Amino acid sequence: MSTTPLGPMLPLTNGRVKAYANGHGDVAAAAARAADAGRRRGVAAAVREILVAVGENPDRDGLAGTPDRVARMYGEMFEGYALDLDTVVNGALFDVDYDADEMVTVSGIPYTSLCEHHMLPFVGTAHVAYVPRDRVVGLSKIPRIVDMFARRLQIQERLTTEIADALEAVLDPLGVMVVVEGQHSCAALRGVKKEGVNMVTSAKRGVFRSDRGLRDELYRQIGR
Ligand SMILES: [Zn+2]
Repeated sequence: MSTTPLGPMLPLTNGRVKAYANGHGDVAAAAARAADAGRRRGVAAAVREILVAVGENPDRDGLAGTPDRVARMYGEMFEGYALDLDTVVNGALFDVDYDADEMVTVSGIPYTSLCEHHMLPFVGTAHVAYVPRDRVVGLSKIPRIVDMFARRLQIQERLTTEIADALEAVLDPLGVMVVVEGQHSCAALRGVKKEGVNMVTSAKRGVFRSDRGLRDELYRQIGR
């Protein structure tokens, strides 16, 4: 039979392809781990220098683990730099036949970020609404998009704009609106020293620019 010789060849070929793919994945993962470790060492060394510069003894008991601890924390707070929109959304887009001009709202998404002017935390909630054209995105993806941008050095205004632009790029919706509320520790701890000041920023695209009724509906839903 003419097909017989191919029989034993197929698993071999598949085996080779698989081994190559695994090997390649291992190499990429190892490179990523090495880069992570390098960044952590760099942050830890810099934190140690800060401790010395402010007059501390970085080797005393309470501080001995601080540079590494801060470096690990930064790894988490800045994990957004390693992410991109495609990876985060991961194809979770669904075609829908949704009523025209009806919006989808995901509200009260908590985020934590660091302001790029003082590297101090600002925290709050983001509210996202969009009017689909012909597709929607998996519900869990919107908080992940918020996190991807929040977990970088930010200002609240840009965070707001970036979330709106990302949703526009992913969904091509009829409109999108993002409202972000934030309390900034740099305002509470230094400068004006006012605690509890709530900053509100918003970004409107498409029908949300022209349709005041849609905007009002969103404000009602988020209790503003
Ligand atoms: Zn600040």
